[in-house]
Amino acid sequence: MRPLFLVALTAAALLASLALSLAYDTRAPDVVLVDGLRLVCGDQHTHQYLSFDARVHPMDVLYTIRRQNNDFITLTDHNTALGGDLVRAWAGLLGLDTLVITGEEVTTSSWHIGALGIQTTVSRWLTLNETLDEIHRQGGIAVANHPTRKFHQNLLPAFESGKIDGLEWVNTAPYYEGKHPEVQEFIAILESRGLLDRAVKIGTSDSHFADSLGQATTCLLVPRLDRDSVLQAMRERRGAVAWQGKFQAQEPWATRLNQNPEALAKIQFGRPIPPQAAGLLFLGLMGAALFLRKVE
Ligand SMILES: [Zn+2]
Ligand SMILES: [Zn+2]
Repeated sequence: MRPLFLVALTAAALLASLALSLAYDTRAPDVVLVDGLRLVCGDQHTHQYLSFDARVHPMDVLYTIRRQNNDFITLTDHNTALGGDLVRAWAGLLGLDTLVITGEEVTTSSWHIGALGIQTTVSRWLTLNETLDEIHRQGGIAVANHPTRKFHQNLLPAFESGKIDGLEWVNTAPYYEGKHPEVQEFIAILESRGLLDRAVKIGTSDSHFADSLGQATTCLLVPRLDRDSVLQAMRERRGAVAWQGKFQAQEPWATRLNQNPEALAKIQFGRPIPPQAAGLLFLGLMGAALFLRKVE
């Protein structure tokens, strides 16, 4: 009977955590139209279990998007593109049609490149130029992640070659808090060389923990919400950074949206955070283990 008990209690804990998660906020994201296009927002730089240095359950990823009124999420685990598949599998299990975009953070000691919308893992052992070519060959978007000083020397020629599509303008990971001046320094270099407008400005959380997911996002104007439209909007630089409840990167339409309460309501972050799904699952399993010890 014991294995059966364990299976039943594990299933009960899982169902309870699912029910609590999904019952919290099951609304579809609000639709805001700007000049006939739909405003969609999502976190473009996120890590979960497959990054090994992250502690985010795939269910937490889905749960947070819904809670924050976001439209999509891009999984960018270190040197693997499997995270997107994993989270999509969970979405399928839960019957959710959330848009999950496959990505990777190609992580080396000389650059961290966000590879968004790729099909399969891009090797970390390529040169930067080869990495960017491979991302584009797969139909993806290449983003210069957190361009701190140690990366400037490598990233600058890549910007000059026109192979970088996006610049991480805001990254809310605590590690980078003290590094903002280095990012600003890089932005100033790009501006002085007339390269700044070649890349869409990206806002991300770079979250490794569930409670920091979606703290900054990239908002894009798209004809419809699907992967290809999101990627195309980035290529055409129809994007603005959403952070601290308003649009940060000053595209003219984003400046206009800062006066639009309906659009601002879409990026009201900081909703109350209920217990995390994975944490509930863990508590459920602990309870099951304790119960089994008692009935022995
Ligand atoms: Zn990184
Ligand atoms: Zn990262």
